Amino acid sequence: MTGSADVLRRFREAAHEAHPALTELDRLAGDGDFGDNLTTGLDLAVARLDGSPDDGRDAFTVAAEVFLDEVGGTSGPLFGLLFQELGRAGETGAGWPEGAADGLAAIQRVGEARVGDRTMVDALSPAVESLRVGGSPTEAAQAARTGARATADLRARMGRASYVGDRAQGHPDPGAVGIALLFWSRAAAESP
Ligand code: ADP
Ligand code: MG
Ligand code: MG
Repeated sequence: MTGSADVLRRFREAAHEAHPALTELDRLAGDGDFGDNLTTGLDLAVARLDGSPDDGRDAFTVAAEVFLDEVGGTSGPLFGLLFQELGRAGETGAGWPEGAADGLAAIQRVGEARVGDRTMVDALSPAVESLRVGGSPTEAAQAARTGARATADLRARMGRASYVGDRAQGHPDPGAVGIALLFWSRAAAESP
């Protein structure tokens, strides 16, 4: 997709900036490795991109390979599925509305989380809905952020966070925050 490489690089920067906060959120709700998983994966993806010939593949397709094969945690392969669909939509020209919707479907097929389970789905689903009704990249990012913030009031039913009870109450789900960062990175890349 035009600008995919730019979005990916901005996402990498945003993830590094948020790394301490993401680590703390996953420490409250899980095992504290989400910030590491995301930044390490994005570092590898950008390095892979820099070392790849420009063969017409979308940057997210390259990132998907890295996240599906090499990134740990529950979030690694789930981000990989989203990147795979964004990459495919870039290569076919379908664009973000379709790529994000297909990515959400893939994440839910594999992870079986529904809206309200306190996962990345709570940020991705409203962003997909915003794009479906013609929302701009900024509006989609706002929808993702609103969804991510609302996870602070949710109790986890899926993943590691479901074991720790109410310790994370009042704090958003790290994966949902990560999704919001992705959509803001796209909004920033596309703003004139
Ligand atoms: P782990 O719990 O294996 O250490 P990470 O820390 O990499 O995984 O990722 C945690 C994030 O993964 C959570 O914040 C949540 O957003 C997401 N997650 C966990 N389980 C699911 C699921 N079943 N579906 C979607 N997202 C999930
Ligand atoms: Mg973790
Ligand atoms: Mg882990």
